[in-house]
Amino acid sequence: MKEIKVAFFDTKPYDREFFDKANEKFGFQLTYFETRLGPASARMAAGFDAVSAFVNDDVGEETVKELIRLGVKVIAMRCAGYNNVNLAAAYGKILVMRVPGYSPYAVAEYALAMLQTLNRSLHRAYNRIRENNFSINGLIGFDLRGKTFGIIGTGKIGRVFAELLQGFGVRLLAYDVYPNQEAAKALHMEYVPLEKLYAESDVISLHCPLTPDNVHLINSEAISRMKNGVYLINTSRGKLVDTAALIAGLKSRKIGGACLDVYEEESDYFFEDRSGYAIDDDILARLLTFPNVLVTSHQAFFTREAMTNIAEVTLQNVSDCMEGRELVNCICYQCDGNRQCPGKGPGAPACHA
Ligand code: NAD
Repeated sequence: MKEIKVAFFDTKPYDREFFDKANEKFGFQLTYFETRLGPASARMAAGFDAVSAFVNDDVGEETVKELIRLGVKVIAMRCAGYNNVNLAAAYGKILVMRVPGYSPYAVAEYALAMLQTLNRSLHRAYNRIRENNFSINGLIGFDLRGKTFGIIGTGKIGRVFAELLQGFGVRLLAYDVYPNQEAAKALHMEYVPLEKLYAESDVISLHCPLTPDNVHLINSEAISRMKNGVYLINTSRGKLVDTAALIAGLKSRKIGGACLDVYEEESDYFFEDRSGYAIDDDILARLLTFPNVLVTSHQAFFTREAMTNIAEVTLQNVSDCMEGRELVNCICYQCDGNRQCPGKGPGAPACHA
């Protein structure tokens, strides 16, 4: 049988470690490129059956068209989100696969870790103690018990986040374009309109995907409707938040704290060691000056369990496509990843590619 060749873009040493291990079961020929996938680098995919890309690769129209021209059969995203893929350009010509639920625990647990790090000033305490400064002045936080949490997006991660919060004695409000009343009942969570969620939440956590409809969901208008001192957690996608509006909210003290694992212009910085260079992005640089802002480099997913699942499911996705099996993890602009799509059954390649 012909050996299946997969080109990985935007890879780091840890990707290689987990994918090489997962590939023991599949025996594909894996090639790892450090370069990002984009219109200029797409030609490196010549001769490959599948291409695997990550969150900050540019899988826009130009790239997709080039991959189709080269005869690549599958774009295997090794992540859950697919906002950086032009699904319309791919439709009917190349399959797009993703890893929808590799570990909702990794991200939900991380969101909570970020909140408590910032709220209880663990990051500042750590630095102080290392300098023999044992003062606790300025490190005061708040109890989570009795606070109202607003969860935007109650899919896999949002629901695990709600589950984790059960032990804290908080009130849970939720908003989703597709409310899940069963989950609401089980998790003691109330679906409310966004206005109510904004007006009553002490902590707001974003767990919805980025779509063309919700770019800058958290803008100056939304912030103006929030409670004074609200904490915002974004472990979803940077462009859900208008960062300039967030900075204005932080300066006016409307926002009490921001935990950001993603940033709207993250692609030039996140995942890279830029310690030898000045930051050209003035908005990011300003963000990093606030003591009540915690920025991390899109690492919420980064656990051993999640990496193992990502590697195994990505390669299984490629295998399913190449061998004509049922495509449980394919996405197209008609099904949008969430609902039943006629293209997911056996014979799907006839529908999607
Ligand atoms: P999911 O598909 O299980 O759930 C997403 C939920 O959001 C769904 O219930 C959907 O109905 C809802 N939704 C869609 N549009 C919405 C909108 N405009 N307003 C409110 N709700 C909306 O996805 P998931 O696995 O829970 O992941 C959520 C997001 O988390 C992903 O799309 C991705 O962007 C992000 N993510 C980040 C990391 C990280 O490392 N920081 C890792 C994995 C996922």
